[in-house]
Amino acid sequence: MTYKPANNIQDYLVFGEFGGVNPSITDSSTFTFLTSEKMSEVFEHEIEGCYLYSRHMNPMNSFLSDALALLENTPSAHVFASGMGAISCTALQICSTGEELVSSRTVYGGTFALFKNLFPKLGIKCNFVDITNLEEVEAAISEKTKMIYCETVSNPMLEVADIPKLRALADKYSCKLVVDNTFTPMVVSPYNLGAHVVIHSLTKYINGASDTVGGAVCSDKEFISELKDVNTGYSMLLGPTMDSLRAAGILKNIRTLHIRMQQHSRNAAYIAEKLEQLGLRVIYPGLKSHPNHELMNSMMNQGYGYSGMVTLDVKNDETAAKLLPLMQDQLVGYFAVSLGFYKTLFSSPSHSTSSEIPEDVRDSIGMTGSLVRFSFGLDFDIERSYERICFCLKEVGLID
Ligand code: PLP
Repeated sequence: MTYKPANNIQDYLVFGEFGGVNPSITDSSTFTFLTSEKMSEVFEHEIEGCYLYSRHMNPMNSFLSDALALLENTPSAHVFASGMGAISCTALQICSTGEELVSSRTVYGGTFALFKNLFPKLGIKCNFVDITNLEEVEAAISEKTKMIYCETVSNPMLEVADIPKLRALADKYSCKLVVDNTFTPMVVSPYNLGAHVVIHSLTKYINGASDTVGGAVCSDKEFISELKDVNTGYSMLLGPTMDSLRAAGILKNIRTLHIRMQQHSRNAAYIAEKLEQLGLRVIYPGLKSHPNHELMNSMMNQGYGYSGMVTLDVKNDETAAKLLPLMQDQLVGYFAVSLGFYKTLFSSPSHSTSSEIPEDVRDSIGMTGSLVRFSFGLDFDIERSYERICFCLKEVGLID
């Protein structure tokens, strides 16, 4: 049967205790046993339907994990209290002291800071590369490399990683390919394309309500069990556990993800095309002018568009500084970081979510203060939003 992420989520049914259409929330940190043999057994091995202690696993988190595994078409998944919890535990599970990783240099600023500032303290070296240049990626791999890390569509430069080719490199050098798919849930399914591990910040599109922080790792059963191992699992031992009440909320929201992704994508494509026609520099993988447009087409699932993220070059820092609050005054959306909300969000990445990346690296990749990142919302009347954006662009002197 053809894999369609929306169908997978739609057909995932979990009944509540009294036949409810949503699963009952198990609001317990610990679970009772009737025999000491059973308790030892559950402590040592995962037994489906048996729970011991909520940091390890609890029913609601396992329902959400199952839904995420269906979304990403992976055999298993595990949820975390944040996207960074998912990223740090995954990277530490794969890389030990004395080993190395190769990471795209255009990743979320927090991920960049983790690899650049904290990992050296643990004796793990990160080589940052232009992930679109496969020769550079290969040259950065050594016999110590255990992981190639990238985002499907990078934050905020919107560069697209060639997942099948990166997997071929990972196979050649016996390392794992880990892909952060936060910007493109449903749009791209990295595991189907060759990623060993797929990561999400659930904080963004998947939850979509900007009311919680959360993360997920989707992978094969073996890797997920390693993360949860009571003796050596980073998730189990560092403890970034999602609260079950939050998991219940995210599970409800994931059921509308396909509709939201379609609308975010439709709105972003409309505005990106219009702004490009005005002669502005617009970065959006759905535009023919995007250098990775064909690659994106070759990796996408049909029917969800190119996601809602658009980066606009407003020519200088001063214009960006005037434009952002003005767009908020004019109700285009909120001047705020993050993405995937019902309302459009916009920010200056070099002054916020990417400020952890050193200035010389930002300059070398063109991540200047003149870039404005938009996460287009679910607006019904996108023409009205476009008119409001144009009003603001005129006010700051970008267009006539
Ligand atoms: N990955 C990407 C692409 C992100 O944009 C972010 C946060 O902005 C993260 C990971 C980190 O996720 P969280 O904030 O949920 O820890």
